[in-house]
Amino acid sequence: MQIPKYLAAFDFDYTIVSDNSDIVVRDLIPSSHPIPDHVKQLYSEENGWTEYMGEVFKILHRIDVTKKEILAAVTSIPEVTGMVTLIQNLIKMNFDVIIISDSNMEFIERWCETNGIDKLIHKVYSNPAHFDEDELLIIQPFHKQTTCSLSQMNLCKGQVLQEHIARRALDGISYDNVFYIGDGSNDYCPIARLGEGDFGCARAGFKLPKLLAESSVVKADTLLWENGVDLLDKIKAKVK
Ligand SMILES: [Mg+2]
Ligand SMILES: [Zn+2]
Repeated sequence: MQIPKYLAAFDFDYTIVSDNSDIVVRDLIPSSHPIPDHVKQLYSEENGWTEYMGEVFKILHRIDVTKKEILAAVTSIPEVTGMVTLIQNLIKMNFDVIIISDSNMEFIERWCETNGIDKLIHKVYSNPAHFDEDELLIIQPFHKQTTCSLSQMNLCKGQVLQEHIARRALDGISYDNVFYIGDGSNDYCPIARLGEGDFGCARAGFKLPKLLAESSVVKADTLLWENGVDLLDKIKAKVK
């Protein structure tokens, strides 16, 4: 008998961390330096946040907000209660844990290091980002997709999830059940691609549970959660 193998794919903002990391960093810009309209206009439903955040990082650089200050703001965002413990427990239960997020690699990797879970995360899929030699944070889109109308151009989480599962299959790893854990509207696409026996874990009171409740195409069961503590109990009950 083979030991069952599971996948937990997490969103980051408002799922692992209790805030939006992009907004936390954007708000380091003091009100004495209003964000110009041509920058604000870069944000759109279709194009998403990456171009906008790229310009926000340039403003932060110009007004001498340092790399240290930016990373301190990100790494001090509190977890959603119980999420670190949840991830530690999932590893013991033979889960691969991945993160699929529209934030960026720099923020997610530093937060995971600071909170002691970086070694537990099998893979982070997010917009590539790095500080250049002048400490300007540079961000790039994860990919440029036009095939999925549910998702923004720079990141289709459903495509990322399917490609991850396919790549692991080539390594001989197949998942008995997949759990996707999120809160927002861009977490709907990956859950819509899951099959029967999989679980869309939606944070109560956020947009995602409403989208799942209204959907006629989702095959995965919905698990509603409030925090990492009750979610751990609910996942444990499903994998027994
Ligand atoms: Mg989120
Ligand atoms: Zn998509």
